[in-house]
Amino acid sequence: MSKTPSIQAIKGMNDILPPTSARWQWLEDQVRCVMGSFAYRNARTPIMEQVQLYTRGLGEVTDIVEKEMYSFQDRQDKHGDADHLALRPEGTAGLVRAVAEHNLLYDGGKRLFYMGPMFRRERPQRGRYRQFHQIGAEALGFGGPEADAEMILLAVALWRALGIKNWRLELNSLGQPDERRAHREALIAYFEQHQEQLDEDARRRLHSNPLRILDTKNPAMQALVDGAPKLLDYLGAASQQHFAAVQAMLRASGVEWRINPRLVRGLDYYNLTVFEFITDSLGAQGTICGGGRYDYLVEQIGGKPAPAVGWAMGVERVLELLQEEGMAVPEPVPDAYAVIPDAAALPAVMPCLQALRAAGVAVQMHASSGQADAGMGSMKSQLKRADASGARFALIFGAQELAEGQITVKALRDGAGQQSRQPLADAAAWAATLKSPDSAQ
Ligand code: ATP
Ligand code: MG
Repeated sequence: MSKTPSIQAIKGMNDILPPTSARWQWLEDQVRCVMGSFAYRNARTPIMEQVQLYTRGLGEVTDIVEKEMYSFQDRQDKHGDADHLALRPEGTAGLVRAVAEHNLLYDGGKRLFYMGPMFRRERPQRGRYRQFHQIGAEALGFGGPEADAEMILLAVALWRALGIKNWRLELNSLGQPDERRAHREALIAYFEQHQEQLDEDARRRLHSNPLRILDTKNPAMQALVDGAPKLLDYLGAASQQHFAAVQAMLRASGVEWRINPRLVRGLDYYNLTVFEFITDSLGAQGTICGGGRYDYLVEQIGGKPAPAVGWAMGVERVLELLQEEGMAVPEPVPDAYAVIPDAAALPAVMPCLQALRAAGVAVQMHASSGQADAGMGSMKSQLKRADASGARFALIFGAQELAEGQITVKALRDGAGQQSRQPLADAAAWAATLKSPDSAQ
């Protein structure tokens, strides 16, 4: 008999399974907690959007729109029209669309966060995947420097909650569009003088988006880029003041940073403050979080003009950093494992387990393989399973105990081997004795 060929996941798109998934859940719990402490509220937007959202929002001449987006023509509707759709490559454009579409800013600014998968057709490598996950925070409708500072402090609070130590903050200001225009002229003139040193990407972007050249990852162009005119020298008084105010608030909060005049971020929509959190522990893919102010995006996407600032962090990179830093995340284990020597006991077992779970006890029920004649398995093999589950107690539903309206509770960890009897009915009355000392309830 020929074997059916197996089907594998798409390259660069990963399954997240136990035990790794426990680390993801733990991280998400920390994030929800920190977001709550800054009064950020959750938002969820679709994974697919119209392609125009990204071409308009991110800019035509960006890595994402030029080469990385998964987009396709949808089927024609009955009028012969077909939507051009894209899997979201990032979360800000979709969130801004949703905020504008639902007029969420009608009664003032909003602070929002999201978590979820993003899609980019990049070369898969360590820290760079085709389906990856971002956690993002956006503060919309706030134009003052305090919102920029709060955004950065939110990320810092997250690193603290996660126990991440190896990070540094880089800051820059991209000024306003008119200031960028003056800088752009100077930049084009500079790069035109050094045409022969430009790589293909840079040559193509020289006139369409020269600022992007500063973002190059090509080592051969580093020296050239280092000598380029700096945008910071082109900022007017208001932009300078905004930048200084952000830094003053960070200084007062005990946060350290470094100014990186070459930090331009990969997307077109930023103005004024931009920042990245970078680690040296992950090799080339060292940026764990990036963001900045984007005061013109809401209007560009079709909403009423509103200032905004935000960041996005790469979950895979942060988790890898946690691993590098040796952070141990506890594996979730059940409180108790139900040992059921005879299937005839199952009708008595089920309601008891339901009552325990309703009282906050995590119970794993032994289940049979379903093979004929195998039954529920021997008591010995079931106790072995109970031990392997990590549970602190085995609940033994033996025929003898049940005949007396009781079950045996056997300790598997502290005081292993100790046994006691409990009444089968009214499980809620003794449920608390099974709960882990550090459980929430
Ligand atoms: P890079 O310069 O590494 O390509 P980027 O500027 O394209 O990053 P952003 O669009 O700012 O990244 O996304 C925010 C964060 O999401 C990044 O700092 C990074 O941690 C993460 N990220 C971006 N692309 C990927 C990817 N393909 N795989 C895993 N994480 C990613
Ligand atoms: Mg990128």
